[in-house]
Amino acid sequence: MNGKVYLVGAGPGDPGLITVRGAACLRRADTVVYDRLVAPELLAYAPEHAERIYVGKASSDHTLPQAEINRLLVERAHAGRCVVRLKGGDPFVFGRGGEEALALVEAGIAFEIVPGVSSSIAAPAYAGIPLTHRGVAASFAVHTGHRAAGADPAGPNAGPDAGPAAADTLVYLMGVENLEAIAAELLAAGRAADTPAALIHRGTTPRQRTVIGRLDNIVELARGVPPPALLVVGQVVALRDRLNWFEARPLAGRRILVTRTRGQAGELAAMLAEEGAEAIEFPTISIEPVADAAALDAALLAAYDWIVFTSANGVQAAWARLAALGRDARAFAGARLCAIGPATAAELARRGLIADFVPAEYVAEAVVAGLDVAAGQRVLLPRADIARPDLAEGLRRRGARVDEVVAYRTRIAGPADPRAAEIAAMLARGEIDALTFASSSAVRGFVAALGLADGGRPRGWAWPRVACIGPITARTAREMGAPVDVIAETYTLPGLVAALKSYFASLEGH
Ligand code: SAH
Repeated sequence: MNGKVYLVGAGPGDPGLITVRGAACLRRADTVVYDRLVAPELLAYAPEHAERIYVGKASSDHTLPQAEINRLLVERAHAGRCVVRLKGGDPFVFGRGGEEALALVEAGIAFEIVPGVSSSIAAPAYAGIPLTHRGVAASFAVHTGHRAAGADPAGPNAGPDAGPAAADTLVYLMGVENLEAIAAELLAAGRAADTPAALIHRGTTPRQRTVIGRLDNIVELARGVPPPALLVVGQVVALRDRLNWFEARPLAGRRILVTRTRGQAGELAAMLAEEGAEAIEFPTISIEPVADAAALDAALLAAYDWIVFTSANGVQAAWARLAALGRDARAFAGARLCAIGPATAAELARRGLIADFVPAEYVAEAVVAGLDVAAGQRVLLPRADIARPDLAEGLRRRGARVDEVVAYRTRIAGPADPRAAEIAAMLARGEIDALTFASSSAVRGFVAALGLADGGRPRGWAWPRVACIGPITARTAREMGAPVDVIAETYTLPGLVAALKSYFASLEGH
């Protein structure tokens, strides 16, 4: 039986702007055929088994000619596959989606169109430009920039009323190369030379950049802005003065490296992105189970007065072993629980347990000072293989009988890390504004991955700003030769993000 083809609009760039229906189609795709302007994150919706076929389609160098794309869709559908043709923006707005649909009709293949958020609407929205506005603009038109240069013939209905001045607000896609011809055409058609104009580059993505000018100088001002970009012409552009929100976010335009474990990096990256940053994940440590769990197993089943968790990883590792032993949280029924900070406490809460003690400052010293432990009481410390000795020593000084058990291993990256060269190249090109470290081991992993482990100095690049989650991590960073610019006041991820925000805000103030 034949499969079906879904022509799906991927949205303008921000992966959050795909439709619910579009994401559902991707989730059951066997084949995804996608374009250059599609947000790469969207491919993750497709099942692992799905084949992902890139067909390019930059405006000039088509990787696969349109006829080949049509043939590919038909052929995969004939093979019974569920095919998603994922196209930038909306499939029927200058995407040649109509041609692809016609090819499917001709071949007798069933298809559906899933509209998308077109860049023609979304990029102006993210630039703070409403396409219509009471008293300012009552209509808008979306044009191809190829036509002004004579490359794309007008449709049969293009009488004098369909000309470039037919709507109040004009949007031009694919117009970067022909900006000059477009502006000239509009001036010739009677648009005023001082009509506000905006060129929006990579709208809705962390790299969005907007050049504002007038019809008579936008060509000059926007020189060098590469595609993809779109042009907006009309009085509504002036509203951006007050409505610009996206590029005004505190970390907009900042590229920030996140160096946690693969599993944890996403959380910090999402928080940074929410503030406008482009977060780049570079996992420099990985958490692995201990090779021999006998000591941990025995400790988990023994009786303690306190169990002190110093990281969410420790909680996860303890639970992994409990599960393996066929036990649950009741194994801890007789003990009081300490969490070093809110993230660790939240990890306990997820398992139905309320931490009895969380110190006000999220460091070992605060646990030593504040834990309600009497001399002779037993304390279990499920910890990382590379943890500092301070906590156990401090509690012993208070008379506690402390068992330290390695609950998980922290493996730091090495120079063989496949992404290290890529990151070093970005650093060398000055493309990274800040590094973030949420633990001492993340610092060690970064330093090892970039070949600075034995006191080596950066070769070919200079340290960008370095931001650390707290004083201990900052000390490690300094010991490893990194100049630390930012230390969070609260030693949490939100604290780290807040510190970065005020740091960059203070830079802009000068
Ligand atoms: N179907 C798409 C448009 C395809 S034509 C849609 O509805 O958005 C490709 C042109 O769209 C590019 O040359 C550029 O002018 C514009 N474009 C696409 N994504 C863009 C973005 N994120 N920012 C600015 N312009 C974009």
